[in-house]
Amino acid sequence: MTTISTAPHAELAIAIRLADYMKAHNLEGPIEIGVSKASCYWCQQYLDFLHESLQPKLNIVNRATHGKCIDGWLIPDHPADIKRQMLDFVGDKMQAIFDLTNAHRCKSDSVPFDGLSSDEEMQLEINDRPLTY
Ligand SMILES: [Zn+2]
Repeated sequence: MTTISTAPHAELAIAIRLADYMKAHNLEGPIEIGVSKASCYWCQQYLDFLHESLQPKLNIVNRATHGKCIDGWLIPDHPADIKRQMLDFVGDKMQAIFDLTNAHRCKSDSVPFDGLSSDEEMQLEINDRPLTY
């Protein structure tokens, strides 16, 4: 069994903390985050959402993304509206993968999933089989 540890990545914790502090003290940006590594795909998207929510007073500047999806990436709970945006974004990405997989699967000779129960699917597969004697 594989165990994956989850944690918010450091650049998100720093960005959120700084954004909260600057908003609380009515300070203006930019927020510059210095990290030795480029951000992962999920962090960059999260920072983009956070950046859009802070406009125009604060601006988040970070290094580019390496574009990889890292195992164990955890969405920070705060701020809630950015968490919701990120959940929707991840959900859309997953749906696109499912749709692509299903479209690929439909090219094979198997019966595509159409929302039927497993008993109905089994009956459909049985009915679709050619009769053999
Ligand atoms: Zn990351």
